[in-house]
Amino acid sequence: MAFNVAIDGPAGAGKSTIAKAVAAKKGYVYVDTGAMYRAMALYFLRENISKDDEAKISASVDNIKVSIKYEDGAQHVILNDEDVTGLIRTEEVGNMASATSVYSAVRTKLVALQQELAKTTDVIMDGRDIGTVVLPNADVKVFLTASVACRAKRRFDELTAKGVEADFDQIAKDIEERDYRDSHREISPLKQADDAILVDSSEMTIDEVVNTIIDLCK
Ligand code: C5P
Repeated sequence: MAFNVAIDGPAGAGKSTIAKAVAAKKGYVYVDTGAMYRAMALYFLRENISKDDEAKISASVDNIKVSIKYEDGAQHVILNDEDVTGLIRTEEVGNMASATSVYSAVRTKLVALQQELAKTTDVIMDGRDIGTVVLPNADVKVFLTASVACRAKRRFDELTAKGVEADFDQIAKDIEERDYRDSHREISPLKQADDAILVDSSEMTIDEVVNTIIDLCK
């Protein structure tokens, strides 16, 4: 049986940084499920499909093939044979992913792919519904969160470090909106699984969070 670790939490809580570090230390494969929703969102944006057009989105899901592959341990997301890893990290794609991940056609397809991956591989998988829906029997479940101000500050610093102009208030507003939408949607809302351990990283260093999770895996 594969060993499965589920990390859920809101945008910007540091899930991917933490999950990558735990994966490297423990030899698990890191699966970033948000990247899959982002790849689909990129398809909808390119096709000029409105985020509100559920019929069109559901109909086009069959034309979309999302898969992931690993190169030197890093996850690459493939959208219909194109490696889109470098194209999905924009705010536009993130907001589109949040808006379109509410539809059942989108979720059904990606959840099946995620469950398939976790069946045969030791994974640490991050997302919003991993502990509740995708891997309800995961060996370790963590709900990783941090305050809105703290998450906005991290995102702001990340963007300015890259030389991208950023507006702190706008980032905080986007984070709040995304939190609201992710936690109030009808299907698989963002919520802490009953048996998940809550970790608030607002006042913790990356190493402290990583070590907390590694201890849980023992
Ligand atoms: O984690 P990330 O910001 O890359 O995710 C983008 C969006 O995809 C999230 O805002 C969320 O709406 C959606 N998502 C989801 N379920 C997951 C992972 C991401 O609904 N397991």
